[in-house]
Amino acid sequence: SLLNSRDAALLGRAQRVVPGGVWGHMATRAIGPGYPQFFARSEGCRVWDVDGNEYVDFMCAWGPNLLGYHHPVVDAAALEQMKAADIGNGPTEKMVELAELMVDTVDGADWALFQKNGTDATTVCVMIARAQAGKRKILVARGAYHGAVPWCTPSVVGVTAEDKAHLIHFDFNDAASLRAAADQAGDDLAGIMITAYRHDVQRDQEMTDPAFLAEARAICDRTGAALILDDVRASFRIHLRGSWFPHGVKPDLAAMSKSIANGWPISAVVGGNAFREAAAKIFTTGSFWYGGAAMAAAVATIGILKESNAISHTIAMGERLRAGLDEAARRNGFRLRQTGPAQMPMLLFDDDADLRIGNAFGLAALRHGAYFHPRHNMFLCAAHTPADVDRGIEAADNAMKDIAAAGYVQS
Ligand code: PMP
Repeated sequence: SLLNSRDAALLGRAQRVVPGGVWGHMATRAIGPGYPQFFARSEGCRVWDVDGNEYVDFMCAWGPNLLGYHHPVVDAAALEQMKAADIGNGPTEKMVELAELMVDTVDGADWALFQKNGTDATTVCVMIARAQAGKRKILVARGAYHGAVPWCTPSVVGVTAEDKAHLIHFDFNDAASLRAAADQAGDDLAGIMITAYRHDVQRDQEMTDPAFLAEARAICDRTGAALILDDVRASFRIHLRGSWFPHGVKPDLAAMSKSIANGWPISAVVGGNAFREAAAKIFTTGSFWYGGAAMAAAVATIGILKESNAISHTIAMGERLRAGLDEAARRNGFRLRQTGPAQMPMLLFDDDADLRIGNAFGLAALRHGAYFHPRHNMFLCAAHTPADVDRGIEAADNAMKDIAAAGYVQS
């Protein structure tokens, strides 16, 4: 088993001074004991837990790591800016440079606003949509994640019904249910928020149906509501011009974050001219939202993405991983479903609603040196080499052998 004594000791200390020890989506108690909770180091596509175990990482910090942890060019740009001016009495020159670059890069972007977290960005989109339309209803897909403040958190604890009173749900990729939700909103429709593609937790990922997206665009064109792309998770991983660019659909507003500064903390809202006035009127801000270092990191990251084959490399590595895992599953007698874009893979075993097999597999893979997630989509990064991916496949193959020997067998 893992030598995770330091991890356990830290969790014990945390539980005394942090409610629950660790909160939210990164709390490993949700995926069962044995997953390391605390990390000491990261580099490229590798992470080391506090007990010194090294893993080839297929989680990539839940998205932010796109070019590899500690990319030298990105980190140098951020550190240089940090030494000059980071948090101050106002923005640095980097804000203008980054906004110009976003407008230049992202389809449909005539302007940009910056925040810190993805939730900030989705919330700002909702505010702009409501301010523009003078209306209240926001349509969201059942089961989609848009963040963790009262209007959108998936939990009901600490949240009132009023916080979510103006959300109306539809089923992803179901144009008829989207139309029904719009009808329900009547003349109070402010916006429709849709993720890049369907990447809900613990279910097969689904690419966006172009006809469904066209229907969303048509409803917004007809009513003046904002079509909002929540691109927080997929930002730049599917396409540098935005995740719907390949579909030819322009959102009115898009929320971006995670990978746009390769791990430095920043999010962005970009939008079209029709929403510029509303975007200038709403009041949202934060002490750290103008931080220059993260903006410098974003400028450097986007520059690298434009000049390199980083995105297509992550796709190639994702396809290599998918093929290898398919073979490993077949060899070991498991039925494994791999869904979504190859560079954002989701692994789920058949007949495993309680994740008995998935959790055991993940834990066993850790022992063989690879970090997979049993129920959330994962991420490839530009630092994954074919050899790294092959190490991951080998760890998965050994993990499947281990759990098969331990009696985890599919009928
Ligand atoms: N929207 C989507 C689609 C996300 O995946 C996330 C983060 N998982 C968020 C919003 C919220 O981002 P953050 O956690 O940075 O607030």
